[in-house]
Order: sequence, then structure tokens, then C-alpha cells
Amino acid sequence: MQTRRTALMTFAAAVAGTTVLPYRLRADGHGGDLFDTPAGPVTVHPISHASVVLETPAGVIYVDPVGAPENYADLPPADLILITHEHGDHYDAGTLAALMEADPHLITNPAVADMAAAMAPEALANGDATEWNGVGITAIPAYNTTEGRLNFHPEGRDNGYVLDLGGYRIYISGDTEDVPEMRALEGIDLAFVCMNLPFTMDAEAAADAVRAFAPSVVYPYHYRGRDDGTQDPEAFAEMVGDVSDVRQGAWYG
Ligand code: ZN
Ligand code: ZN
Repeated sequence: MQTRRTALMTFAAAVAGTTVLPYRLRADGHGGDLFDTPAGPVTVHPISHASVVLETPAGVIYVDPVGAPENYADLPPADLILITHEHGDHYDAGTLAALMEADPHLITNPAVADMAAAMAPEALANGDATEWNGVGITAIPAYNTTEGRLNFHPEGRDNGYVLDLGGYRIYISGDTEDVPEMRALEGIDLAFVCMNLPFTMDAEAAADAVRAFAPSVVYPYHYRGRDDGTQDPEAFAEMVGDVSDVRQGAWYG
């Protein structure tokens, strides 16, 4: 069995010859946070609310791009687009169609795959795994568990994702509460964890889950909700304490 370090080095070597170097950081409003990982440089661009762009050694990955194609004009085009579920803050057919002109691979949950059939997505159901350009991609269940919220994200429909870049593992929660499948994650290096009410969970539940799976770095995202209500990302950071390195992104301008 390969050690984690060997796997990372193998991955870095495998992708180095086949991909362009990540774009240099741009002086745009989104900036970017650079992580010098064993798999190579990973740059996180928080775009808004639930939308993030990851520049990785394997290519540029857009997660839940919405809003307008212009929001992405200053970023390198997508090589892979991931959609977690059908809600408008995650799946925007018009924006997606425009971004698909760069001919990226598209991975969605099965419900969005039906809606976006013309764009020929690869459908991943909860628990399914696939590989794209050397990156392992697993669909993690994302759903509500609290009475009164169950219809927002019914169990079995929507996805979070774990991306495995040669052992460097990135978790994107999608819209979910602190479900057992999240709490049981292992070896996560970088995580994006949602919180807002009534649609997902509060900061306390999110922090409790993060303390359970202990990612090395975590970004709270998706923390505003109805009527401008918000879960406080700074309170979340305090509750997480020294279990994880909590980073704040400019998700809301
Ligand atoms: Zn949702
Ligand atoms: Zn949402």
C-alpha cells in the first residue's frame, strides 16, 4: 500500500506534465488564498455564498457557479464544474450554459442531471465515486434531518463532494445539516461547510460537526439566509477553536 506522502508525490508528478500552471493571482475582487499542498498549489477563490473556484494541479474546478457569467470573467475557465443540487443558489441553468462553452466536464447529482440533460453531465448519486483527470470524486450525502426542514433537502437527492488530489482531500458540503456522513469524514485537508437557517443548520451544529471530522482548514460558507439573517462565521470560528484552521472568505462582497 502506498503511503500518503508517496501518493501525493506520485500525483504531483503525474499531473505536472499534463496541465498548465495555475493562473497567477489576479488583482480582482475575489483575490485567492494559496495553499501550498503536497499535491501542488491549490488556490481558493471564494466567489459568493455557495460558489467557489479551486485552481488545482489537475485543473480549474468550479463549484455551484451561479449569478452571472461575468462573475467568472477574471478567472481561468473551468475544466470541471460540480453542481451539488437544484436550488437557485447552486444551479443556475443560464450561467452554467455560458460557462460550458469552455467545454469543461460537468458532474451533478442525478436530479440536476435530468434538468441539465442537454449539457450531458455525469450523474453521481450519494456514495458514488468517479475519477476526473486523476482526481477522485465521491458524492457525499447532503440532507436535512430536522423536522420542519426535511423538504428543503430530502435525504438521497443532493450531494456534497470529496475531491482527492493524490491524497490531498477537499470536502464541499453542499446544503446539509450535520449528518453522520459528514461527521464520519476522515483525512480532510480543506473543507467548505454550509450554515444558514432554516435551510441548512446553525453555526453551533456546523462547528460541532467540524470538531468531529477535524479538517485541517475549514471555510464557513453559505451562511446568510432568508431576510438577511446570518449565522456568524466568527462565532463559528470560536466554537471550532483549535481543532481546525478556520479561514474567512469574502463570500458576500
Ligand atoms: Zn439548497
Ligand atoms: Zn443553498
